[in-house]
Amino acid sequence: MHSNWRDIVSQHTLLIHSSCTLRCTHCKLWKTNPLPEETFVPSHIGHLLADGTFFDRYPRTRLYNIIGGEPLIGTDILPLLHLLKSAGIYTRVWTHGIVPIDHWHEIYPWINEVALYLPAPDRTEYRTITGTDGFDRIPEIIKDLRRNGIRVSLNAMMTPLMVEWLPYFHDIARDHRIPMTVTYYANGDFTTSEKDYIHRYNWVSGTIVFKLLKRHKHSCPGVPHMALQSPIEMARLYGKQVSDDIRKMMGL
Ligand code: SF4
Repeated sequence: MHSNWRDIVSQHTLLIHSSCTLRCTHCKLWKTNPLPEETFVPSHIGHLLADGTFFDRYPRTRLYNIIGGEPLIGTDILPLLHLLKSAGIYTRVWTHGIVPIDHWHEIYPWINEVALYLPAPDRTEYRTITGTDGFDRIPEIIKDLRRNGIRVSLNAMMTPLMVEWLPYFHDIARDHRIPMTVTYYANGDFTTSEKDYIHRYNWVSGTIVFKLLKRHKHSCPGVPHMALQSPIEMARLYGKQVSDDIRKMMGL
């Protein structure tokens, strides 16, 4: 099952929680939402799942975007993923990907797609959390996801700190032949030449540059949450990816 044009207009975005294991420099979430001790899925969702009324509260769309914070921390997301899968819903999880491999393997059978957003951390903090200085784990994660039949896209959210990494991210996307979205906030602190540089990637095959007008204050800034609310923005965000897929299927 793949996402397609019908999924673009029939999707729901579910914000699981606002906590995260990373510490991106531009992000306020980890400063204001400490990691919960026991449960990561809000209790109201837990109750809806337990008493079978989830779809009374949330729509039964063709596709669900699961977002956070970091939605994959903790294990109690699994009942939700089970429910979505049993309802035949395509599940796309937006994650920074730095999740223990055992947990990934529990999750694989229940999801269709991972939109990996590339975090923008302070390097020392990132090293402490991931044990690596660069983004070396990202290619490993992509390989493992694809070996397990999960569709993958990269979402490179730009901050001025991240612009120098853009060619490296593009190399990852190209080497793994996966689509890449480059997002940036219109009110970000970019120079004109940095913006021009980012926009050059719009001309690169499989890559789309997406200017975000507004942040959603409770979700990871690496997720284009406000765009996910609008079918028109979604068509722009996924249109190129879907048309690239169609071209590939037709051997063009
Ligand atoms: S920007 Fe996203 S990945 Fe980074 S700390 Fe914030 S929630 Fe986590």
